[in-house]
Amino acid sequence: MSAVLHAPPETPVGRERPCPECMAPFVPAQPGQLFCTVEHRAAWNNRATVRGRVLTPLAIVARITRNGTRGDRNTGATASHHANALIQRWRDEDRVAGRMSWSDYLARRYRAGFDPL
Ligand SMILES: [Zn+2]
Repeated sequence: MSAVLHAPPETPVGRERPCPECMAPFVPAQPGQLFCTVEHRAAWNNRATVRGRVLTPLAIVARITRNGTRGDRNTGATASHHANALIQRWRDEDRVAGRMSWSDYLARRYRAGFDPL
């Protein structure tokens, strides 16, 4: 059983929480509101879209080749290396920019009912 399925409901409306983009505390107007403003939501999502376009094929190939230990080993190993390097670079960029970590962000989305499957 997944812990996600039993996660508590998202923080109720009216309770202060940090915005993932700027980390400033704000009081949400809607139960599932994650960002302080529409602009910060767009900035976060636009950056995620740009990164995702690059990371998606790398992550898929890294996974299906088990990081270059199955199938096309050279392509898989290279894709795995590139995916890891980009993830580290983006993590560092986000940290310097004062953004929320991706693990904290995803935990919030799961609590808000996010189900990618
Ligand atoms: Zn914000």
